[in-house]
Amino acid sequence: MKLLLSGWRSADVVQQTLMASELWPSLKWQGQEIRFKEPVQLSLELTGEQGSLLVRGEIAAELELACSRCAEDFVLPMRLTMNEVIPLASDEDQDGCWNSAYLDRERDELDLSELSIQVLLENLPLQPLCSQECRGLCPICGKNLNSGDCDCQVETIDPRLAILRQVLNQNQQAKK
Ligand SMILES: [Zn+2]
Ligand SMILES: [Zn+2]
Repeated sequence: MKLLLSGWRSADVVQQTLMASELWPSLKWQGQEIRFKEPVQLSLELTGEQGSLLVRGEIAAELELACSRCAEDFVLPMRLTMNEVIPLASDEDQDGCWNSAYLDRERDELDLSELSIQVLLENLPLQPLCSQECRGLCPICGKNLNSGDCDCQVETIDPRLAILRQVLNQNQQAKK
């Protein structure tokens, strides 16, 4: 969804509501792929104000990505509030912003989809989990422990008890 900025700069348009339902392509994020099975719902309110364009609204998306503990794919629903200020002046000193992924200076366009993608990526959980109770993978055999226990003996002895056991072992060896 692209927006021509010239009208906003000359203040012809002051306010506009935009609703869109878009199917986004997969995104690469932290070395993994994020997929969208359902169209992303964008509900945006645009306001032109003193040389800036305010983009407020809501993004609702259902992402499919891998759990950071068990590596299984799961669906993560996200509902985000967007509140971005886009400078409308294309002065030389604002080149930094104008060369961003969502502003096209040559066409004088703002790509609202791309802006929404950036907002979504910034708000993704650093360690997405399929569930708060996810038990992850066994560190020995790699079995997904959500689907049942494995037969591995994982040593989870308290370090204080480990010292005690060492002392007991030494005593036993001394008796021999
Ligand atoms: Zn998981
Ligand atoms: Zn195991």
